[in-house]
Amino acid sequence: STTLPLPSRTRIFTISNQKGGVGKTTTVVNLSAALAKSGARVLVIDLDPQGNASTALSVEHREGTPSVYDVVVNDRELDEVIQKSPEFDGLFVIPATIDLAGAEIELVSMVAREQRLSRALGRFLDEYDIDYVLIDCPPSLGLLTINAFVAATEVLIPIQCEYYALEGLSQLLKNIQLIERHLNPKLRVSTILLTMYDSRTNLAHQVAADVREHFPDEVLDTIIPRSVRISEAPSYGQSVISYDTNSSGSLSYMEAAAEIARRGVPR
Ligand code: ADP
Ligand code: MG
Repeated sequence: STTLPLPSRTRIFTISNQKGGVGKTTTVVNLSAALAKSGARVLVIDLDPQGNASTALSVEHREGTPSVYDVVVNDRELDEVIQKSPEFDGLFVIPATIDLAGAEIELVSMVAREQRLSRALGRFLDEYDIDYVLIDCPPSLGLLTINAFVAATEVLIPIQCEYYALEGLSQLLKNIQLIERHLNPKLRVSTILLTMYDSRTNLAHQVAADVREHFPDEVLDTIIPRSVRISEAPSYGQSVISYDTNSSGSLSYMEAAAEIARRGVPR
C-alpha cells in the first residue's frame, strides 16, 4: 500500500561522498528499503566493486554473475541483470561483482565512457515504472562515479557528524559543479543527510549545526543516529527496516524517506 506521495517522474539519486565509511552504502540500502516499504518502486544500482549494497540486500553477486559490470562494459541491458530483493515487493537491485574492479580501466578507452550507465538507465526507465533510483558509488572520483553523476538528477550526500565532516565537502561540491557544467546540467545536490549521530557528544551537535548553517535548504530534519542495529543488519542480509523494524535506526530511515518524498524535487 502506498503511504507516501509518489513522484510524477523517476527521481534518480546518486549517494556520494568522497570519504569512505561515512554511511553511503548504509543509506542506499536502508533508504531504498524504507521507500519500498512505503509503497514506492525502487531500483538500487550497486556501482561499488566491493558489492556491499548487493550483500546487504541479499542478491546474488558472486564473480561472473550478470551485473552492472556487464551493463557499463559489455552493453548488456539493465533488465538482463536485474534481481528482485527478497525483502520487499517493489525493491530491485542491479548487483555489483568484483568484476567491476576492472571497469575503471576498461572504460577509459570506450566510446561515451561517461554516459554508459545513463544511456542504459534511460532505456530501462522507458520500459519500466520506477519511482526512485538510488546509485551506490565507490569513494573515489573515477569513471564509475562520473557515470553515476551523469545518470542522476539528484545528489544525496551523507555526512558523518564528526570533526572533519565539512573538510573535503567543498572539493566534492566543486567536482559536482564540473559535472553539472560539462556533462549533466540537470544534476542538483538536493539532499544532505546527517548520519552516525551520537547525541551524547557536543561535537556531534556542533557539526550538525555547522552543516545546517551552510546548507539550510538541503539538510533533512531527520538525523540518523549511531546505532548498533544498523551496523548489524547487513550480516543478516537485511536492511535495518526488516531486521529491527522498531529500532531507532529503522524509524529514522523511514522518516528520512518520508521527508524526501514529501519535499519532492527541488526547484
Ligand atoms: P560507506 O559506504 O560510505 O563506505 P558504509 O555505509 O559502509 O559507508 O558504513 C561504514 C560502516 O559504518 C559500516 O560498518 C556500517 O555498518 C557502519 N554504519 C553506517 N551507518 C551507521 C549508523 N548509523 N550507526 C552505526 N553504524 C553505522
Ligand atoms: Mg560503500
